[in-house]
Amino acid sequence: PSKEYEVKRRGIYKGVQELWYFVNQELEKLKKKGPELISTDLSNLIQEVISSGKEHEAVILNDVQDLSSMEGHDSWRAAEARSLSDLVQRRFHYLQNPADCSKARKLICNLNKSCGYGCQIHHTAYCFIVAYATKRTMILNSKKWRYHRGGWEKVFLPVSETCTDPSGLDRSNWPGTHETQVVELPIVDMLSPRPPYLPLAIPLDLSERMIRLHGDPQVWWIGQFMKYLLRYQPETQTMLDEAKENMNFRRPIVGVHVRRTDKVGTEAAFHSIDEYMFHVADYFNKLDMKQKVEVRRVYLASDDPSVIPEAKKKYPNYEFLGDVSIAKGAAVATRYTDSSLRGILIDIHMLAHSDHLVCTFSSQVCRLAYEIMQTLHPDASHKFKSLDDIYYYGGQGPHQQVAIYPHKSARPGEISFELGDVLGIAGNHWDGFSKGVNERTKQAGLYPSFKAIDKYHIVDLPSYSEVSS
Ligand code: GDP
Repeated sequence: PSKEYEVKRRGIYKGVQELWYFVNQELEKLKKKGPELISTDLSNLIQEVISSGKEHEAVILNDVQDLSSMEGHDSWRAAEARSLSDLVQRRFHYLQNPADCSKARKLICNLNKSCGYGCQIHHTAYCFIVAYATKRTMILNSKKWRYHRGGWEKVFLPVSETCTDPSGLDRSNWPGTHETQVVELPIVDMLSPRPPYLPLAIPLDLSERMIRLHGDPQVWWIGQFMKYLLRYQPETQTMLDEAKENMNFRRPIVGVHVRRTDKVGTEAAFHSIDEYMFHVADYFNKLDMKQKVEVRRVYLASDDPSVIPEAKKKYPNYEFLGDVSIAKGAAVATRYTDSSLRGILIDIHMLAHSDHLVCTFSSQVCRLAYEIMQTLHPDASHKFKSLDDIYYYGGQGPHQQVAIYPHKSARPGEISFELGDVLGIAGNHWDGFSKGVNERTKQAGLYPSFKAIDKYHIVDLPSYSEVSS
């Protein structure tokens, strides 16, 4: 399939979802108008329309998915995903394993950011992105890492086999010059000047292939850095394999992450278990129309130990995997008094290996699981439901969209734009509307999500000609 075909096919899938978000939300609003405006009969009728509308949506989405695997497209996609990922991984390997470490240009990354596991992995990946773009070997300083006192290499394979010595002829803080042998990178929040290739940027030389292959090339690119960084040590792999076996992890399975404790009220809103389960049910209902689902299995991860028993009690028709003891450890870990590494490794691994994710993208735990998920499928960009944010990367550059249809503000709070206008997107309200600002008119507000698509930030990065393509 051509790039245009793939982009169009995925556009239809998203379009149907957005159409249903919109219609569903408007009907729900109508239903709630109260007896003085809406009679009980009418309210019941609206409910019926919602129910069968949902089935219509499910059938079309299933059909579009079936379409994606016809005519041998699935095998093309699998081969292309492998080939593209192999190329990128070989570049990383080349970058990280210079023949002569004493002469190599280096980037020092300190794994001492005071934040949670997801945040620290994202910090490391950000360093690695800068290393790739500047063609510097990343030296990861992980001594006394809060999640493992023994350092990164106790959990993951070393980021380099040949070059771990941070020394060099001269050393400078960011940015240094091209000639500076050793440059030390600050955390992204302190980075100045900011280079153009920070997420969600994608590399020019691979962009055509990435856009053809993947529904969100921006997250695919991040996933590749995770794929290299998070190569487990054999002991870590064994621990995860055993955990998976013991909990009887089987497909189909939906991964749910409920982030509570210190996050609620500060960086995110509270969401009840029912809100998550609504979307889990939605996933299984859709699947049920294609194949008989014998067991509705859910991997449930949370930092709130009360969530698992509550879910089990309220949803007896589901099988919940997930460990209350992990959740208890997690609740402690969020206060950074302890570093329950095993628990967070298991939770993120199982979430990433689930068929679908339901979570809040405001949490780095779930965004990391989503990123890793992309390395396990040719295109898993649609395999999620976030209750709050759209995908983002901490410290990212502006996330823009471009209008593919003009829009005239129809209601208060809406913005207008012309075809081709660039919009800064702040979020999707999952009700047919996104929020953003028209960069031409400076008008900020809501707009119909289907009228704009992501404008990728494509940057010219080294193309590693030393590595055969
Ligand atoms: P964020 O704060 O949710 O954006 O993500 P971070 O990973 O930066 O920090 C949250 C920390 O809380 C994690 O690293 C874990 O230590 C802990 N945590 C949060 N949710 C979970 C969970 O579902 N399972 C486990 N095991 N730990 C969690």
